[in-house]
Amino acid sequence: MVIVMKPQATAAEIEHVLRRAASMGAQTQPIHGENHTVIALIGDLTQVRRQTFDAMAGVLKTVRIQDPFKLASRTTNPDGTTIDVGGVRFGGDQVVVMAGPCSVESREQIIQSAIAVKEAGASVLRGGAFKPRTSPYSFQGLGEEGLRYLAEAREITGLPVISEVMTVETIDLVAEYVDILQIGARNMQNYGLLKEVGKTNRPVMLKRGISGEIQELLMCAEYILSNGNMQVMLCERGIRTYETATRNTFDLNAIPVLKRASHLPVVADPAHGTGDWELVPPMSLAAVAAGADALILEVHPDPESALSDGDQSLKPERFADLMHGLRRVAEAIGRSIASPAGETAADDAKERDGAEREKEVVLA
Ligand code: PEP
Ligand code: MN
Repeated sequence: MVIVMKPQATAAEIEHVLRRAASMGAQTQPIHGENHTVIALIGDLTQVRRQTFDAMAGVLKTVRIQDPFKLASRTTNPDGTTIDVGGVRFGGDQVVVMAGPCSVESREQIIQSAIAVKEAGASVLRGGAFKPRTSPYSFQGLGEEGLRYLAEAREITGLPVISEVMTVETIDLVAEYVDILQIGARNMQNYGLLKEVGKTNRPVMLKRGISGEIQELLMCAEYILSNGNMQVMLCERGIRTYETATRNTFDLNAIPVLKRASHLPVVADPAHGTGDWELVPPMSLAAVAAGADALILEVHPDPESALSDGDQSLKPERFADLMHGLRRVAEAIGRSIASPAGETAADDAKERDGAEREKEVVLA
C-alpha cells in the first residue's frame, strides 16, 4: 500500500503518518517526488487499516499496490524518480550518457578516455576495476589501483564515475571512490550483495541478469529498495537467446516495459547488448527513441589493444559522431542530452577548444 500525501502536507503531518504506520507493524519508506511525498508501507500489513490513513490530515489518498515489486512499482511514484549524481540528473527530461572503457587498464588509459568522452559530451565516466570475467585466466581488473585512477580521472574532468562492485567485502572500498555502484549482470540475483548495497547511500545501477526476466530484475531492485536505498536505476544489457549472430540479444522491449512498470530510471547498455561496435550506434539511437533515461557505452582510445570487450568498444571519434546523432534523436522526442554537470552547451563548445591543451598538461 502507498499513502499519497497532499502537495502542501507539512513535515509534522508526514511524521504523524509514519509513526501511525509503524505502530500498526508496517515498515515505512517515504519517497519524495517532484510534487508529492508518498509513503510506501511494506512488510507485515495485516494490522494496517486504510481508512485510518484516509482520515488523517495531509493525506490525499491511499492506494493498494498489486505488483509484487511494491517499492519499484510505478504506482509508488507515478511522476517517476529522478536521481542526482553530482549535478547529473537521471530520470528527468534529459538523457544521460555514461561512457568509458570496459576496464581501467592504466592511469594514462583512463585519463585519456575520460578527457575524450567528456570532450564529446558524456556526463559520467565508466570503468571497471573489479571485472567479472568468464575465464579466471583473463584480466581481472586493477582492483583498488584502478579505483584510484578513476578517482583521479574524476578530479581532472569533473565527471562522476561508475564502477562495478562484485562482493559484499569490497562495497565500502568501491563506495569510497565511486559515485554510482554498478551491480553486474552475473550478480543480479546475488541477494546478499543487493541487501548490502541497499544499506549504502550510493546510487546503484542494477544490470539485468544474462537470463533474467523483467519481473526478476524488478524483484532484485526490490531487495535494494527495501533496505532503504531508493536511488536505484535499472539497466537493460541484453539477454541470452537462441540467436548466435550477436553476443546477446538486446531487448529493446524491456525499455518501455520497465518505464511502464516502474518509476526507476532506465539505462540501456547496447555495447554488452550486441557485443559488436558496429551495432552500438544504431541500437543506442533506438534505445533513446524507446525512452531510455541513460546510456552506458564502452569507449576505448585503442579498442584493438583493450584488455576486455575491445570488440564492442567505440573509438573516441566514433563516439563523438554518435553523440551528434543522439542529440538529434533526443530532440525529436522532446528530450535533450545532458551536458556534463555544471556546464551549459556553450561552455561545452568552449571547452572543446581547451581540451587539447588539457590533454598535454595531464599526460605530460
Ligand atoms: C561491464 O559493464 O563491463 C560488464 C561486465 O557488464 P555485464 O555485467 O552487463 O556483463
Ligand atoms: Mn564490458
